[in-house]
Amino acid sequence: MERKVRVRFAPSPTGPLHIGGVRTALYNYLFARQHGGDMVFRIEDTDSNRFVPGAETYIIEAFKWLGIEFDEGVSFGGDKGPYRQSERRDIYKKYVKQLLDAGKAYIAFDTPEELNAKREQVANFQYDASTRLEMRNSLTMPAEEVERLIAEGAVYTVRFKIEPGEDVHVDDIIRGDVVINSSILDDKVLYKSADELPTYHLANIVDDHLMEISHVIRGEEWLPSAPLHVLLYRAFGWEDTMPRFAHLPLLLKPTGNGKLSKRDGDKLGFPVFPLLWTDPATGAISHGYREDGYLPEAVVNFLALLGWNPGDDQELMTMDDMIRKFDLSKCSKAGAKFDYVKGWWFNREYMLARPAAEFAPAFVKLLAENGVTATEEQAAAVFEMMKTKNIEYIDGQSGQTKKRNVSFIADFWPLCDFFFQAPTAFDREDKFVKKNWKEGAAADMQELHDILAGLDDFSVESQKAAVDAWVAETGKKPWNTWRVCLVGQGKGPDMHELAAFLGKEETLRRMEFAINNL
Ligand code: GLU
Repeated sequence: MERKVRVRFAPSPTGPLHIGGVRTALYNYLFARQHGGDMVFRIEDTDSNRFVPGAETYIIEAFKWLGIEFDEGVSFGGDKGPYRQSERRDIYKKYVKQLLDAGKAYIAFDTPEELNAKREQVANFQYDASTRLEMRNSLTMPAEEVERLIAEGAVYTVRFKIEPGEDVHVDDIIRGDVVINSSILDDKVLYKSADELPTYHLANIVDDHLMEISHVIRGEEWLPSAPLHVLLYRAFGWEDTMPRFAHLPLLLKPTGNGKLSKRDGDKLGFPVFPLLWTDPATGAISHGYREDGYLPEAVVNFLALLGWNPGDDQELMTMDDMIRKFDLSKCSKAGAKFDYVKGWWFNREYMLARPAAEFAPAFVKLLAENGVTATEEQAAAVFEMMKTKNIEYIDGQSGQTKKRNVSFIADFWPLCDFFFQAPTAFDREDKFVKKNWKEGAAADMQELHDILAGLDDFSVESQKAAVDAWVAETGKKPWNTWRVCLVGQGKGPDMHELAAFLGKEETLRRMEFAINNL
């Protein structure tokens, strides 16, 4: 019988969620939804040294923003909880005991100092079948002494007794049959008496089993742990319900080699976290996709294609499209370059597809930050006129000034300043001004001014009819010169649209100012 699909996303709350973790969660979500399965949110907080306050709330908020939904887990309820590992101590203790009783794990008393001394003595020391009998553990000590030490409160760990010389197979949906010889594995610590908590490995396997997880979809960095996990399932006798594995490709730097890092983002100008994060210890702030003005649909669509593609040319996909098309077996093994410029493209596409009114509040806020008071209607109108323009930016890689399409609300300033602020001075050295304000310009503008002054209806159509007639009659080309008057520079939308937005009075005022000052 086919098992019910149940997947989990199991972050450790050690800080803000990295964008690679977001992609992992997204793939789990797409897979779960496609199969009518469940998606579990588990917090793996057994390493108390690395716990960061606020991380758990941050992660939950990030997924809410992105539209990635969980069916059960921390803050979502469910009948297989608790879903926070630090609240499951007693459960783990029972399973540690089971392994000890079966002789599949043993108790080790070696102190950190003793282990260090050994490492200095023996090159490439590894605690395993070849060395465990030289160490202070329940395999080498009489049972009474072990009991006495525990009764006295000695600190110990429980280690997994790995039998050497066996090929361990990991059946990975993306990578196929991955084989590792058990001789290279060390006797991993599964439990630490000091804090009465299991390590990641034990807690992860026990929970995947008890939470009836059918597929473990996670980052490539966990692949080296997978053989150990297979051996643990076997040691518990859970082979039949062992989840299937899928280790996702790494996210790589946009250029060059290696794993994507926060420094790449800082240098090239893109966030590596979904939401803005303030480090509780240092107060340092890291950029987030949400606060940087990305749309959640764009982020999701962009991330989905980093390591997977549907095999056709369709790049823009809704969540439902992706749920339908997603295929774990079509994920690449090779790392995926983090093409942040493509991320801009996705954002622009999603921005253009939405009604201007949706962006008006954010636009009004942007204007206010720049000292301009505007209504939402004005903001929406300007958005419409300017959304397909370009802006200049400094490329983090080359340091050169480049052009790109407007892709974010923040791009609209200073692109749109002139809608709200009249030119107060003209730069005669500006190429556009020089070229378009020549002999006769003031006289032409005075003529145009007088034609416009005679209009009662200042709509685009009405202006156009009047100005076109004058242009046809005189052969004049007033557009760029008029632009100098209203904008002061070579930027902006169609002149009639701009004039209609400014209104008759302001249009004429700007023209008079230019005529008098240029
Ligand atoms: N707690 C691990 C993490 O932080 C989970 C790894 C796994 O999915 O097994 O990613």
